[in-house]
Amino acid sequence: MLVEQIWTANAYRNFNYLIACPQTGEALAIDPLDHNKCLATASRYGWQITQILNTHEHGDHTGGNQAMIAQTGAKLLAHKNAKNKIAGIDRGLGAGDKVKVGKTVEMEVLDTPGHTMSHLSLFAHSDSPALFCGDTLFNAGAGNCYNGGDPNVLYDTFTHQLARLPENTRVYPGHEYMVNNLRFTLDREPENTQAASLLQKVEHQDPNHAFVSTLALEKEINTFFRLYSLALIRKLAESFPDLPLNPDPRRVFLRLRELRNQW
Ligand SMILES: [Zn+2]
Ligand SMILES: [Zn+2]
Repeated sequence: MLVEQIWTANAYRNFNYLIACPQTGEALAIDPLDHNKCLATASRYGWQITQILNTHEHGDHTGGNQAMIAQTGAKLLAHKNAKNKIAGIDRGLGAGDKVKVGKTVEMEVLDTPGHTMSHLSLFAHSDSPALFCGDTLFNAGAGNCYNGGDPNVLYDTFTHQLARLPENTRVYPGHEYMVNNLRFTLDREPENTQAASLLQKVEHQDPNHAFVSTLALEKEINTFFRLYSLALIRKLAESFPDLPLNPDPRRVFLRLRELRNQW
């Protein structure tokens, strides 16, 4: 499986992706907002884009669909419940469905609601597994829930689905927010040395060659996976004095999401 992460350099800091089959050159484009960059990248490698997948219905993920379809004839894939929100879906997807690219690539559809209620992620099982998670999970962060989402549902997605994927899963999110998110982690957990050293490493990185994290690393540096951290809970209690000593992880998640909204 070949993966190209495409930095759009726009104000929303979107990442687009191309996933290609090394045998046939067929490619799938994920959220190709910057259709020109995606098409230029595909032609540089001699790939043909035959499918587009939208992780969810927000305009910064669907805005390139029509131009790309006009140029390639690609089929459009999205969550089956997004039919009234995304124009021209050819294939509606649900949990457990398979998405194939060419002869060698097969990915599993995960139904990952929370950021919106019709949000899906793609998971590639392999020796080096990969997760394309749109606006659900970011490097060192979690999607917001104020444009059609629900933080309670996002908690379930994090806990019952994402946290259970293999530790070596590479994480490919829909936006580049890592520096700001790491600062939030350090605001919550000033003693988190891994977050501090990663921040130093990525602070001045070129997003065209962005650092790719793994789920194992996210569990160390992403507050939304660190719901049992004693240091984090103690600090959180300064903002929320009603927080008990051994809070329910859901409650910790919701409070973190609340703080991050205003951070
Ligand atoms: Zn979104
Ligand atoms: Zn987005």
